[in-house]
Amino acid sequence: MAGGGKLQAPRGTFDVLPEDGRRRAKLRALCEELFEPAGYGYVETPIFEATELFARGVGETTDIVQKEMFTFEDQGGRSLTLRPEGTAGVCRAYLEHGMHKQPQPVKLWYWGQFFRHEAPQAGRYRQFNQVGIEAIGSDDPSLDAESILLLFELLEKSGAKGVRLRLGSLGTPETRRAYSEELRDYLRGREGELSDEVRGRLDANPLRAFDSDHPGTQAVVKDAPKLLDRLNEEDAAHFAEVRALLDEAGREYEVDDALVRGIDYYTRTVFEFTSDALGAQSGVGGGGRYDGLIEMLGGPHTPGVGFAAGIERILLVSELEAGQDTPDVYVVRDGESTSAFVVLGALRGAGFSAQMEQAGRSLKGQLKHADRLGARAVVIVGSEGMSVRDMQSGDQRDVSDLAGALDALKQVVA
Ligand code: AMP
Repeated sequence: MAGGGKLQAPRGTFDVLPEDGRRRAKLRALCEELFEPAGYGYVETPIFEATELFARGVGETTDIVQKEMFTFEDQGGRSLTLRPEGTAGVCRAYLEHGMHKQPQPVKLWYWGQFFRHEAPQAGRYRQFNQVGIEAIGSDDPSLDAESILLLFELLEKSGAKGVRLRLGSLGTPETRRAYSEELRDYLRGREGELSDEVRGRLDANPLRAFDSDHPGTQAVVKDAPKLLDRLNEEDAAHFAEVRALLDEAGREYEVDDALVRGIDYYTRTVFEFTSDALGAQSGVGGGGRYDGLIEMLGGPHTPGVGFAAGIERILLVSELEAGQDTPDVYVVRDGESTSAFVVLGALRGAGFSAQMEQAGRSLKGQLKHADRLGARAVVIVGSEGMSVRDMQSGDQRDVSDLAGALDALKQVVA
């Protein structure tokens, strides 16, 4: 290879090392324990999809599609994109596998890597991980509430600190269109006070004004008409039901009438969890209802609701301990003995977690290393025989064969 520069992980990416790996495994086990009994089945979809899926599903005017996608052509000239989010792919799979013919709702969960070309900072990466659930095929408000409560519980069980929930409703696309007109007219009336970016997007997506951190825009938006006041009767009743279910569950939330999420497919319920323990990138997870998405992908009208949460963000604010994997037994090699490896295999076969000397240490060095690993016992395998040592008490006794060693170990490693 040309050049002598040090090779590093690409900008905005990171390596997961074993301690981090153990925390991730714990979080994933928590997800499984929560979602599977609630009827959500685990799915995996490809890491790259046809670019069109996201253009249609996420929305042409969104930041994600306009600026943040890793898009490339394959050798046949087809445009592919590394998935920036999970819902579009899961809905594509739902359609492709005819899941609309199964009893509804179909409940699914996923865990995996996602890619967005954003400016990296603490808690914001170009390759990151999300866990998400989707309940597809029913618009029952209890599914909205279930989604929110499952994420609440996941954050609680992982010991996440400073968690808050904001909740809103976007109504149906018709309501949103009429409201967009009204909002656009209002914003036009005060165009001079808006940021260039918001002004530039007035036609395409005036709702984005609510996302702006530009002080002038924020002042204008404060007095703007609110979508929550424009919901039709059905959507208002749906939202009231979701709120009632959360109240019943004793969960606190703040109704936010300016909650806009960066993805176009949402209808009715939208929600976002933040943590005070995070800095500028305070979003831990969010989601909502997407009753029009499957139709946008070419399927029949099919409602759905779900969330996605950032694994790295959860780990940043959570108290999940990595824990230490200590071996039950360390096999010490005393002198020239090939049988140590056989003993190691037998120990593992008998259900012990076992490691063996594999770096040529002296006898003393091996015992020290076993202690450092936290091994409960060692088996010393010499050319003449074997002995078993309790690393806590220091008691050591000779055993005549493997069976004897296993018996002795069963007493030590209770
Ligand atoms: P979104 O699909 O934008 O609603 O994202 C859902 C969650 O994924 C967010 O609340 C974050 O926790 C996480 N997330 C989104 N983008 C990134 C990123 N670039 N790096 C790390 N986590 C992210």
